[in-house]
Amino acid sequence: MSDRLVKIIPANPYMAISDSILREAKDDLQNAIQCDSIAIQTSDHPAFVDCGGSLERIFCPVCHSEIDFEWWGTAMDRAYEEAFRKLDVVLPCCGETVSLNDLQYDFPCGFSTCAIEILNPIAQIDAATLDAVKEIFRTGVRVICARL
Ligand SMILES: [Zn+2]
Repeated sequence: MSDRLVKIIPANPYMAISDSILREAKDDLQNAIQCDSIAIQTSDHPAFVDCGGSLERIFCPVCHSEIDFEWWGTAMDRAYEEAFRKLDVVLPCCGETVSLNDLQYDFPCGFSTCAIEILNPIAQIDAATLDAVKEIFRTGVRVICARL
């Protein structure tokens, strides 16, 4: 059976969260859920937090057209060259300017400067547990599930 890695990131890709707050959230999660392990990841600029092999389709959040993977790959390469400090792109479908973070990834993906990674949680992370993390982070979160 493959491993499941659930990543909790702040909703804002540019938001930095201090090590002590990340540790507090990790301790809270360790008490709340059963899993193999919990790790903290940080970087000094936003990183792409992916859903592993589960990214099947991407849609425009404005006009809901399906976005071509080749176009997206080029846009990602360009943003990566600037360390993802600028995520805005002009979409090919409707010409709107949207953050790469706000495209509709199926399954969800995102960008962040930090993540709490939960390896093989036994159950789904429930709403109360996520609310506790939101409270510790003092911001909204995004949950990304990857199969390894
Ligand atoms: Zn569009």
